[in-house]
Amino acid sequence: MVRADRVCKNYGALQVLRGITLEIPRGQVLCLIGPSGSGKSTFLRCINHLERVDAGRLYVDGELVGYAERGGKLHELSPRAAAKQRRDIGMVFQHFNLFPHRTVLDNIVEAPVLVKKVPRAKAVAQARELLDRVGLSSKADAYPVQLSGGQQQRVAIARALAMEPKLMLFDEPTSALDPELVGEVLGVMKELARDGMTMVVVTHEMGFAREVADQLVFMDGGVVVEAGNPRELLANPRQERTRAFLSKLL
Ligand code: ATP
Ligand code: MG
Repeated sequence: MVRADRVCKNYGALQVLRGITLEIPRGQVLCLIGPSGSGKSTFLRCINHLERVDAGRLYVDGELVGYAERGGKLHELSPRAAAKQRRDIGMVFQHFNLFPHRTVLDNIVEAPVLVKKVPRAKAVAQARELLDRVGLSSKADAYPVQLSGGQQQRVAIARALAMEPKLMLFDEPTSALDPELVGEVLGVMKELARDGMTMVVVTHEMGFAREVADQLVFMDGGVVVEAGNPRELLANPRQERTRAFLSKLL
């Protein structure tokens, strides 16, 4: 579902991604860990072409991200074509980013109606199903400010799912939450994984990674230092840098 082939990204002289190669088969979950500034968020943003890669290639569902190939040359997609590509990729951020002046239901309904032209009644019915799925049926008419952080994040997940994405990206979805609220969000993500969603999750919740992820990737300085089965990697990190990082985490 996702294939990154030597992906590089610079900000001026700063090389943030220095050749990231990895693959995520359909239905699998990849957890990405690494120190602050190692390029995790940048990599996620490249996957949905919020950032332009400087070298290398990214594919989602077999399609080159952000570019079209014509006559052996790459041409960047128009903003419109890039937006169309992005529609199939859901993204959830650390700070939920809900529309504060809209109800929970309207937050979820907005994109399907405006972007995908789903009839409103149908979008509302789907939104109610999604709210049920994230355990928030009773909050349809609440405003984001009336919800806890964990509830807001579950709404944000429902909102992303309303676009029926084929891939979900999570950037530290629980790191802004009080510890007692982390579990409810991870629970929703766990169910999503169980239902077969392909997911890339930047997280330092190692319990989640161990239980849910098919691959765990440790990034540092814009490169993949080590990747593998999460249980094996956590039990037996081969690289000294991975070991040092994990020891600070646990
Ligand atoms: P954190 O754990 O703190 O979220 P991260 O691994 O997600 O870190 P990134 O946000 O990808 O790291 O940032 C990687 C590097 O790129 C950092 O040095 C950051 O300062 C730099 N960077 C990120 N975005 C930009 C930008 N738009 N312009 C310039 N530099 C940037
Ligand atoms: Mg980040």
